[in-house]
Amino acid sequence: MPSMVPEQSLRFASPYTDSALAALVRRFGSPLLVVDCDVVRRQYRRLAAALPGVDLHYALKPLPERAVVETLAAEGAWFDLATTGEVELVQQAGIPASRCIHTHPIKRDADIRAALDFGVTTFVADNPDEVGKFQPYASRIELLLRVSFRSPAAVVDLSRKFGCDPESAPALIDLARGLGIRVAGLSFHVGSQSRTPDTKLRAIEACAAIIRERRGQGIAATATLDIGGGFPIDYLEPAMPIEEFCAPIRAALAALPPETRVIAEPGRYICGPAGTVLASVMGRAWRDGRWWYYLDDGLYGSFSGQLYDHARYPLRPLQPVAGPLQRSVLAGPTCDSIDVIAEDIELPTLQAGDILAGGQMGAYTVASATDFNFFPRARTVVVNR
Ligand SMILES: *Cc1c(COP(=O)(O)O)cnc(C)c1O
Repeated sequence: MPSMVPEQSLRFASPYTDSALAALVRRFGSPLLVVDCDVVRRQYRRLAAALPGVDLHYALKPLPERAVVETLAAEGAWFDLATTGEVELVQQAGIPASRCIHTHPIKRDADIRAALDFGVTTFVADNPDEVGKFQPYASRIELLLRVSFRSPAAVVDLSRKFGCDPESAPALIDLARGLGIRVAGLSFHVGSQSRTPDTKLRAIEACAAIIRERRGQGIAATATLDIGGGFPIDYLEPAMPIEEFCAPIRAALAALPPETRVIAEPGRYICGPAGTVLASVMGRAWRDGRWWYYLDDGLYGSFSGQLYDHARYPLRPLQPVAGPLQRSVLAGPTCDSIDVIAEDIELPTLQAGDILAGGQMGAYTVASATDFNFFPRARTVVVNR
């Protein structure tokens, strides 16, 4: 993924001025993802303050970017890895394996061995087959068993795909114990961009009950509870402020058995607000009574999150463009008709070469972009390292 490699490091006043962003496009071209490490730090500190005593493991998936990893490491963060590529990325960034856990519930033996070779010792499993895969490594590893709680209020409900029912957790614990595998504790990830903390609260209570019952009897005496990610950020729709979102979570965690270590796996909350995507108008056409603007980035690129992640990003023209606002269409560059970013966006009249800026675009954007139709995905520029 060459485009994910931080190519430049610049000191930069944040929040950026539009003219500074325009200068970056002049220097590096477009489309461009500008990642601001000052914002990464700010988000990490704000979440850490809202969840005191919780070890925050940055989940690399939404923005697997080395500069972000290094910035967070300097803040004292931990890391949540799910694939061998992510293992290699943190290894290259010089992160100690002791600060990493591997949380993909379904793994090939080669994935397990790659993580073990790096030195990761905490893994996640959610069914008997996966627990069995750790039998050869029983003396070297410990498991978090992932429990599933459906989350109708999350934009992305991850408990549909992974996790065991709370009722089957005891049988999994017994299976692991029988194989000589240490069960460090439980984990869950109720979904991404949760609107409310309600499902997390239910999950914490249910896991606390299991831990209380099985602590010292199949679950390590100093149990770990991993409360996952899912912390929300503002898009076109504002999210619940993180302090408000975390206050009831803090209260629920206070009721856990003493000596329970609590960890979380935030992804989006850390990196989403740190990313700004800059795209240029390639051309325009007047169709059916409105302007269609064709950008050099679209649904196959940085705006792929509109499809996969169901996000709607705040967009604005970069330079002050004069003139009245008109309902317009913003389209991506490819020859596919699905590649339309916004059907009904109020914009001043734009010209070829004008730049649009998309805010809150650090998470699940360039990470899921393609080079379809030979339109290259956005290049990443890191500022304020
Ligand atoms: C994707 C993922 C995360 C990060 O979720 P966010 O909603 O971005 O915070 C954390 N843990 C696991 C296991 C994931 O798959």
